[in-house]
Amino acid sequence: MIVCKFGGSSVQDADALMRLAGIIRSQREQKPIVVSSAMGKTTNNLLEVARTAAQGKKKEALDLLAKIKDRHLGEARKLGIAVAEDQVSETINTYFKEMRDLVRGLAALGELTPRITDAMASYGERLSTLIIARLLENEGLPAELMDARECIITDDRFTRAAPLFDLTEAAIVEQFRPVLRSGKIPVFQGFIGRTRDGITTTIGRGGSDFTAAIVGAALDAEDIQIWTDVDGIMTTDPHMVEDARRIRVISFNEAAELAYFGAKVLHPATIIPAVRKKIPVHVLNSSKPDHEGTLITNEAACCDNPIKAIAYKSGITVVNITSTRMFMAYGFLKKIFEIFEQYKVPVDVVATSEVSVSLTVDETSNLEDIVADLRKIGEVNIEGSKSIVCCVGDNVRNVPGLPYIAFSALRDIRIQMISQGASAINITFVIDDDQIPKAVRKLHDAFFQKVDPRIFE
Ligand code: ASP
Repeated sequence: MIVCKFGGSSVQDADALMRLAGIIRSQREQKPIVVSSAMGKTTNNLLEVARTAAQGKKKEALDLLAKIKDRHLGEARKLGIAVAEDQVSETINTYFKEMRDLVRGLAALGELTPRITDAMASYGERLSTLIIARLLENEGLPAELMDARECIITDDRFTRAAPLFDLTEAAIVEQFRPVLRSGKIPVFQGFIGRTRDGITTTIGRGGSDFTAAIVGAALDAEDIQIWTDVDGIMTTDPHMVEDARRIRVISFNEAAELAYFGAKVLHPATIIPAVRKKIPVHVLNSSKPDHEGTLITNEAACCDNPIKAIAYKSGITVVNITSTRMFMAYGFLKKIFEIFEQYKVPVDVVATSEVSVSLTVDETSNLEDIVADLRKIGEVNIEGSKSIVCCVGDNVRNVPGLPYIAFSALRDIRIQMISQGASAINITFVIDDDQIPKAVRKLHDAFFQKVDPRIFE
């Protein structure tokens, strides 16, 4: 059995949906499970509706909502779906009626809570999968529309809820068993879940990959396919460097590192459930179904290039904490990290000296409170508009002279922090945001002038 996850652009319109049906048909023998995102930019549009409504602009919000409905109905009808008064039309009507009620409520209250945000966003995936399940049926591929909220059980951190793995795995096994036994193709929503009390949640933007990995891991899938609109994972952002190469094979560790530091192809956490179960993940282009894409696997592949890719993440904030009390003291770092933990703010890069700690965060919503607490420990200063750029590769630790190549490439750029972690899979630099294009290009030139054809295209 395999899990085929389709991202927003791979289900954006009738043509894309027909390609999806073709992809599923050609893999029928492998017993596919479909996990889908919302169609195109639907999630963004729904969130826009919610925000507009909460600003009291009820009419504007209802108009936006009507457009979303037209788009869904329009694409569905091109596929011969929802043309008559059938179950699909009825469900679409019900969903939009519920959303209009939400809009009215939001406009009256003038406030948008994370919980309502999730309720609104959930309709995107519910609509796309409703259409997909019917399409597959019409195409002679018996399908069963499932409700992810019966399976993905999360905590109540709305908008980025964390799945409760034990409950979720048990629910997935229970819900999928009869469907798989019946031979039907399960069609499942990415991104959404529910709390133990039954309130709809979402697991963070781009979370459908994560859903796919959770489902794949729970059911011991043979393969997880992430269908996107790119050819696979690239050596760097192709918008920034024209001759970025496709990576044929990459290890889980490398892919996770890349995802985390900004390669837009995968959700950072996606990899974790797949890694645990050693399930290979393929990143594929739904517009070119025969293209080989990128294989993410557990086995390290030999590679002549010292690194596999260069990733970056902009809009980072550096927090510097200086205290002479830290000199020769212990427990100091613990105090600092406890503060970040208390506010549930993840820290990306850390560098320490005897009297100072520098760290980076990409979330600044609680920063003022965090700084106030840190000031009880030492002097604090904050620098915004920074970027992390990192060279990623399983070989980073073993290649002599690798830092030399990186430093030479960056010789004209002011480097604010450097870190090479114990896992030694990346070497990371923190620089000014506006230096990113230059830094990424220089590093790419330095490391990928020649490429190993076994690993790169
Ligand atoms: N539809 C959600 C989003 O746009 C989840 C996903 O596509 O992965 O973030």
